[in-house]
Amino acid sequence: MTCAARPTLSAPRIAIAGAGIIGLSCALELARRGATITLYDPNTPGRGASWAAAGMIAPAFEAASEPGVHPKLFDLCLESARLWPGFAARLEADSGKPVGYAPGPSLAVAADPATARHLDGILNTLAKRGLPGDRLDVDAARAVEPSLSPDLLGALRLETDGHVNNRAVVSAFLLLCERHPSITLEPTPAPLHSRGSTLDSDGHDLILVTAGWQSGALKVTEHGQQVSLVNWDISLDEIDTYGGQMLSVERRADHPATTLRAGPIYMVPRGSELVIGATMEPGRTTGMPNTDDIAGLLSDAAQIVPSLADARITSTWSGVRPGTPDFAPFLGRTRQPNMFVAAGHYRNGILLTPITAQIIADQMLGAEPGDLAGAFAPSRALPAQA
Ligand SMILES: Cc1cc2nc3c(=O)[nH]c(=O)nc-3n(C[C@H](O)[C@H](O)[C@H](O)COP(=O)(O)OP(=O)(O)OC[C@H]3O[C@@H](n4cnc5c(N)ncnc54)[C@H](O)[C@@H]3O)c2cc1C
Repeated sequence: MTCAARPTLSAPRIAIAGAGIIGLSCALELARRGATITLYDPNTPGRGASWAAAGMIAPAFEAASEPGVHPKLFDLCLESARLWPGFAARLEADSGKPVGYAPGPSLAVAADPATARHLDGILNTLAKRGLPGDRLDVDAARAVEPSLSPDLLGALRLETDGHVNNRAVVSAFLLLCERHPSITLEPTPAPLHSRGSTLDSDGHDLILVTAGWQSGALKVTEHGQQVSLVNWDISLDEIDTYGGQMLSVERRADHPATTLRAGPIYMVPRGSELVIGATMEPGRTTGMPNTDDIAGLLSDAAQIVPSLADARITSTWSGVRPGTPDFAPFLGRTRQPNMFVAAGHYRNGILLTPITAQIIADQMLGAEPGDLAGAFAPSRALPAQA
């Protein structure tokens, strides 16, 4: 596809494809800055991955950067975590609804020596950056969270990591978008058309793709045929799917009041429930939660918190994390000059919502990306797929 001239409008009309937490938050930020938005979603807004998530705001877990992970992902996560307190406060003030933001600390616990070494690695990285983190023996950890098993090897107290009720956040955003005079919600797929060498969405000046794991599946009408949007920007084809199953249990007084992490298992208090997650299933996109997998998650959680052994399950569900080859989102202008993307947030989409809305609004309204934002351009070099 060839390129059209770059539009430089101060109050553009923008079509946004996808009303998950990313599309909703970008819509609101852009509308607050003067843009007129049409937000398209053929499904119930906010009920994709953004509903399925646990709501952890956990930058420290990107500190122990693993091979292949974007080298600046930790910086992006930290920056977004710093924005969360003000972001949550404004969302609550504007919507009149609580969103359950808790700034931390959380505890990462070790039940085996390998996990204990992993926690030491995170602590080292945090220390090098001057960030707080305390290594606790099991008694000190149990003083913070009495429900923990006495058999654990210890914990890492993470001041930077907290949680939010992601479902309340999505509901608050939806309310604000519905109320905003410059935002229209359309219950249809984004209408995308090929017009000669350019892409058009019903005459909007700019297009923003925020369809999560389905971003690469969007279709464009060209000469009466439905062709893939990937033809306009190949990076969209790089977003893979990572299914995750979760459950919630009725939260009793002897269950955790603190967000806990133990290797791949985590527990997050959400009102009268405790959310327990999650499986990580590359390639999985659909399906009901599997009884054995859910029982496995609960049994693993009960190794960490013994009182969970007889917990009452209140709900089970699954969702799909959208992952790029370097596990960091695509943020910014695509090869098609009037099209931008904010997708591929993998396991950090809730954490990264404030910084994403800011970066996207800045760039769509004409600012050049700074060093940090520029590092997440969709055109960046990516590691080879395994
Ligand atoms: C089990 C699980 C646990 C997680 N836990 C956490 C966590 O604790 N902390 C954290 O930070 N992140 C977590 N995540 C990751 C986070 O949920 C995602 O990164 C984030 O929700 C992605 O948001 P999104 O708006 O891009 O996608 P989604 O919420 O999936 O929204 C995409 C929207 O696009 C719509 N759409 C699809 N096709 C079209 C089309 N053609 N036109 C228009 N719209 C379309 C869909 O209907 C959907 O509403 C978790 C994810 C999962 C699955």
